[in-house]
Amino acid sequence: MFVSDCLSVNKEGHLTIGGCDAAELAREYGTPLYVYDEEQIRKNCRAYVKSIEDNYGGNGLAIFASKAFMCMEMCRICKEEKMGIDVASGGELYTAVKADFPMDRVVFHGNNKTKDELVLALESNVGRIVVDNIEELNMLNSLACEYKKTTKIMLRIKPGIDAHTHSFIRTGQIDSKFGFAIETGEAMAAVKLANNMTGVELCGVHCHIGSNIFDIDPFELAAKVMLGFINDAKKETGVQITELNLGGGFGIKYLSDDEPEEYGAYMNRVAKTVKDTCKGFGIPIPKIMIEPGRSVVGAEGITLYTVGSVKDIPGVRTYVSVDGGMVDNPRYALYGAAYEAMCANKADQPKSKTVTIAGKCCESGDLIQEHTDIQESESGDILAVLSTGAYNYSMASNYNRIPRPAAVMVKDSVPRVIIKRESYDDLIKNDV
Ligand SMILES: *Cc1c(COP(=O)(O)O)cnc(C)c1O
Repeated sequence: MFVSDCLSVNKEGHLTIGGCDAAELAREYGTPLYVYDEEQIRKNCRAYVKSIEDNYGGNGLAIFASKAFMCMEMCRICKEEKMGIDVASGGELYTAVKADFPMDRVVFHGNNKTKDELVLALESNVGRIVVDNIEELNMLNSLACEYKKTTKIMLRIKPGIDAHTHSFIRTGQIDSKFGFAIETGEAMAAVKLANNMTGVELCGVHCHIGSNIFDIDPFELAAKVMLGFINDAKKETGVQITELNLGGGFGIKYLSDDEPEEYGAYMNRVAKTVKDTCKGFGIPIPKIMIEPGRSVVGAEGITLYTVGSVKDIPGVRTYVSVDGGMVDNPRYALYGAAYEAMCANKADQPKSKTVTIAGKCCESGDLIQEHTDIQESESGDILAVLSTGAYNYSMASNYNRIPRPAAVMVKDSVPRVIIKRESYDDLIKNDV
């Protein structure tokens, strides 16, 4: 019935998350409010960690792509669950440092890392820096030499697979701002260059083929292409690349009838492909890393809003306005992302109205969803938007000087604030 096991309906007819009444949470903590279920997030972490154990005898690492939902508490959870963390900016790295996350399990991404960010990465002893381009490789090498360090790197490779949600093609891959292309020879040139540098130690290669992908085929193909590159690199340069990071991108349930593969199935099939391919080439199985983001937190979070006005425009549509919007969830405004919503305090009633959910910003495009079914609702109702755990808080802004919502984590039916609601003073603290 629901997009996540953490959601249910109680005897009052209210939506619950992790055993907590959503309408009660809204009353206690105010709205808009992000609410997460800790147990389900930990279950997802464990499934990925276990799949590395089962498929690769533990010679690998499951890494949380923190851009999906970065905060100190997520770092602590990942630390406890023995996951790594992938960061893609100095700010994300700083958060992990401040949360006391083990730096050897941090992987630093980004297509245009600044000098300051690379210095922070070197000073923090980040486990792997994923080098995206030649300028970065040169800059990192000279910085590392300055710091008298040899830093472990991976190279970001474009495997030439353009994965869409339900299909994938092998063209247009060079047109990406991320990484080194194989076809043009730039990836191999980077291997040779890195191999002759004293400030860097080339450990591995990385690819990330897209996001919210429901098929397993593109992941298998990417693994084959990457292993082919490792094999070619060995033949052409003598360099044995020992680590392969296959990125993230596993799909989640945004709508009740979405049917993403179970994570175990992805991992088992990709692992079989990895093993078979290595055997075919006669090369050792590299250390395998995966980087799930969305699928760790996405379906395990919801957003609660209070309904304000309900505008019925006869023959046109009904606008249900909420006290947040594109400021806390820009994904519909950005790319038409699908979401399910419901009246949290009327969860046992039929979804009898088709409405457009609008935010409170001064933009007509400030919509959470159009033409979606919810219960008959009125001012004061609590509206829940489901599967907002990933790329919502992390993409939130202060447009219209609207403070960012608080985030609450529920564990054993006990809620606790993990990110405080911003105050008006927070909004002006950098104004001079
Ligand atoms: C975004 C990203 C991920 C995570 O993607 P999801 O679709 O959230 O699983 C992993 N690795 C890299 C390099 C990314 O940019």
